Amino acid sequence: MADTKYIFVTGGVASSLGKGIIAASLGKLLQARGYKVTNQKLDPYINIDPGTLNPYEHGECYVTVDGTETDLDLGHYERFLNVETHRANNITTGRIYQNVINRERRGDFLGKTVQIIPHITNEIKRNILQLGKTGEFDFMITEIGGTVGDIESLPYIESIRQLRWEMGNNTCCIHLTYVPYVAAAGELKTKPTQHSVKELQQEGVQPDVLVLRTERAVSIDIKKKVALFCNVDPNSVIENRDVKTIYEVPIKMMEEGLDTVVLRKFGIPDDRKPDMEAWNNFLYKLKNATKEVKIALVGKYVRLQDAYKSISESLIHASAYNDRKLKLSYILSEDITADNAEEMLSKYDGILIAPGFGERGMEGKVHAAKYARENNKPCLGICFGMQCMAIEIARNLLGYKDANSTEIKPETTHPVIDMMESQKHVLEKGGSMRLGAYACQLKPGSKVADIYKDSIIYERHRHRFEFNSNYEDEFAKVGAVISGINPETNLPEILEIPSHPWYIGVQFHPEYRSTVLNPHPLFDAFIKAAIKE
Ligand code: GLN
Repeated sequence: MADTKYIFVTGGVASSLGKGIIAASLGKLLQARGYKVTNQKLDPYINIDPGTLNPYEHGECYVTVDGTETDLDLGHYERFLNVETHRANNITTGRIYQNVINRERRGDFLGKTVQIIPHITNEIKRNILQLGKTGEFDFMITEIGGTVGDIESLPYIESIRQLRWEMGNNTCCIHLTYVPYVAAAGELKTKPTQHSVKELQQEGVQPDVLVLRTERAVSIDIKKKVALFCNVDPNSVIENRDVKTIYEVPIKMMEEGLDTVVLRKFGIPDDRKPDMEAWNNFLYKLKNATKEVKIALVGKYVRLQDAYKSISESLIHASAYNDRKLKLSYILSEDITADNAEEMLSKYDGILIAPGFGERGMEGKVHAAKYARENNKPCLGICFGMQCMAIEIARNLLGYKDANSTEIKPETTHPVIDMMESQKHVLEKGGSMRLGAYACQLKPGSKVADIYKDSIIYERHRHRFEFNSNYEDEFAKVGAVISGINPETNLPEILEIPSHPWYIGVQFHPEYRSTVLNPHPLFDAFIKAAIKE
């Protein structure tokens, strides 16, 4: 296509309506018609990136190959579209202001007063257009975080208004709202949607398409009513009813014609249908699996399931492809003790020890690792989870009772996990961990070499501490092997116990790489082992 087409996705009425899933679903449908698509997220908060945010504030921090700490919606984009995203795919207000202020200090504005309009809005527009201008994409879908009417999102909506004014037919605006069912009246109510669209119109943006999130079917009459009040075509009012799995949303959106309406808006002929065969195969398996596989996810942020989003989605992908229904239980690591580990964990087919930071719940992860090791339970440790596995082995097989990570106990006499040399002089907390994709060389004949069917793999990282290589030989003597290292720095990346049915800890985050069409080999192998159990 000649010019990149820009699609903006805004949200109204309430947060958490699934803008990210709608944006990813539309991206999928356009991609499945043969177009090149990328998804972008603009986050209206002042943090530079979500890397410094507590998962309870924000959910998981997703890491891209180029080492950017991003919003979890980028995980949805990658899982749905099966293409990688990068730094330019996630922008925050913090970064917008930082860029503008840095330029002000350099003197770039030549004595002008620096203002939200035009300087902040120009910087927002530059960040949107920059991805489009690469010429790589037919469609760019930009999702604006937050809800229309928020003070924070005003400069973004204003930027969209300007872009629409400048580019006209090259843009399309989709607004996602909520249509609640009021039980006492026995009716769906459209007033919140009307108000939300009014708000958007007041800010100068007329949506082209409305997506109505709802629990009940939206009748033609309701669509017509919404269309009339909101100034859109009745065909452009799309029902987005609750479904059991997010992976059904693209199919529902296809049935409702979201992609068709968008193409029509751009004047693009609707001549090829989306090829969703592979997606449907996955969905069929996901929905029709009857036998269960029970996995315990041991972590400290279990009150908010979004905190482990990529892990739970990776487990869903792997389970579906193995014709199993995933029964995932989130277990608060603080609750696990030496005495109750058996009682808490024995009913599961596999144990996943989650990533994390800091002391809270760490001992519980060590108890979980011990239980899994001693009882031949398939166990996958990710990042801090792998580090807890190492601490457990040092304490209970090597007899180093005070073995620890220097993150938790700097004065330990057995620092089996220690700060990476490259981290020792780092003072700033933001964006300063070892981040992004690095190579890992797998040991021939190891379990992981068999699982990956490769000798060099690339996985994404987010950590400051590492396995202390001084202990590698002692670990080998008690049967715990370092089976993956970084070929340049020799940094130990994988720990496994060859004599155990399935006991693998990885310093990296495989969960960032599992997608619907490419389930991750490590999760696949873990689920297979759990099924055997
Ligand atoms: N806190 C550990 C480190 O910094 C592990 C980090 C993680 O699990 N992502 O090394």
